[in-house]
Amino acid sequence: SEEKISEENIINFRKDHLGKGLSLSYDKPLHIVRGEGVYLTDINGRKYLDTVNNVNHVGHQHPKVVEAGQRQMAVLNTNTRYLHQEIIAYADALLKKLPPHLSVIHFVNSGSEANELALRMAKTVTGNKNFLAVEVGYHGNTNAVMDVSSYKFEGEGGFPKPETTHILPLPDSFRGTYLGENCGTNYANHAKKIIANLKAEGKEIAGFIGETLISCGGQIVPPKNYFKEVYKHVRKAGGICIADEVQTGFGRMGKTFWAFELYNIMPDIVTMGKPAGNGHPLAVVACTKEIAEKFNTGMEYFNTFGGNPVSCAIGLSVLEVIEAENLQQNALKVGGYLIAGLKKLQKQFPVIGDVRGEGLFLGFELNDSDKNPLPEHATYLANRMKQLGILMSIDGPDHNVLKIKPPMVFNKAHANELLVRLKTVFTEDYMVRI
Ligand code: PMP
Repeated sequence: SEEKISEENIINFRKDHLGKGLSLSYDKPLHIVRGEGVYLTDINGRKYLDTVNNVNHVGHQHPKVVEAGQRQMAVLNTNTRYLHQEIIAYADALLKKLPPHLSVIHFVNSGSEANELALRMAKTVTGNKNFLAVEVGYHGNTNAVMDVSSYKFEGEGGFPKPETTHILPLPDSFRGTYLGENCGTNYANHAKKIIANLKAEGKEIAGFIGETLISCGGQIVPPKNYFKEVYKHVRKAGGICIADEVQTGFGRMGKTFWAFELYNIMPDIVTMGKPAGNGHPLAVVACTKEIAEKFNTGMEYFNTFGGNPVSCAIGLSVLEVIEAENLQQNALKVGGYLIAGLKKLQKQFPVIGDVRGEGLFLGFELNDSDKNPLPEHATYLANRMKQLGILMSIDGPDHNVLKIKPPMVFNKAHANELLVRLKTVFTEDYMVRI
């Protein structure tokens, strides 16, 4: 029948029959029915500019990606123990985007699964189980990755830090433990100290997992030398360095295709997810030949859906669109324009304490004159922006950071639309700095 289920009934059904551990965005949840490019449309036909969804990397419902998925779905989708061309074509295209030492690919279906596999690889290869991870980090929803996600276990309803997890402070150079020129080294020295303390107890590390730009932590750009030195300490102790590029990969940085390339570091394992399939569940673990060989202990790693022909056709089409539409270049150009615009707003409205990011992975935080976070201002801003037709999201340990990571087809006109609306809200009484 043509009859639509009412919003009230959807909400009630969710309450009664869908898992309860998931919150909806906004006090009055949005009912989205269609996506196109950088826009989402709700059931009443209202269009919203989307600055939030980095999963729909090359644009919502990109016709080339839709076509690739539909085409392959009509031909073949079966498990990965048979030969098929699609997995080769995609793996080959992906390897061309990676440094040569990362030469082996494993396909999985979510960022969580990718990190789960990466952690298992590090454990198997080193024979150890102690991991270093970053404060407020999020790496996914499975047991092992939750154990290294302090965003989760130290958050509401969390659990005590597992004995094998060792947390490094969030390398925040705006209002963290260390500030100034050498703060990268100071933060990285925590890794050195933890490793030395473990050694004194006769324990060794399996490795380090960290996002190469920190998203849940509040769009943190790690300070100079931070990753170089953390990786150095971890390597020296025989640990494996895992770069979580689930949020940051696939050209979003603008300057580079992967965020780890910003720092001239060489991870042993790189995990990818979200944007890889433009919304289709597709994720990847890239590792060195040595790790792949040592991981092959005789016990199989089997994954029913990982690397299926439909996922691979979709993944390949995403890479092709990034290339054909110069989206990495676009991230550099539009991201640069947007961050300059935000910095201009910051001069006018000092409630914006900091503006930061790379390419189309940006954020700004709201603070009082002593840099104290202003989470209510952030909530007010996000809700007002929604009323004005722009979707924004809030993150960071103090819920005062607005994240901007839109589909990569975000252009200058979209950036202007965002800046103009932000200015409107910053001019409102509520937003006056306290
Ligand atoms: N790593 C990072 C950095 C993430 O942001 C996320 C998802 N928010 C994950 C891993 C987990 O990915 P998924 O939700 O696809 O399992």
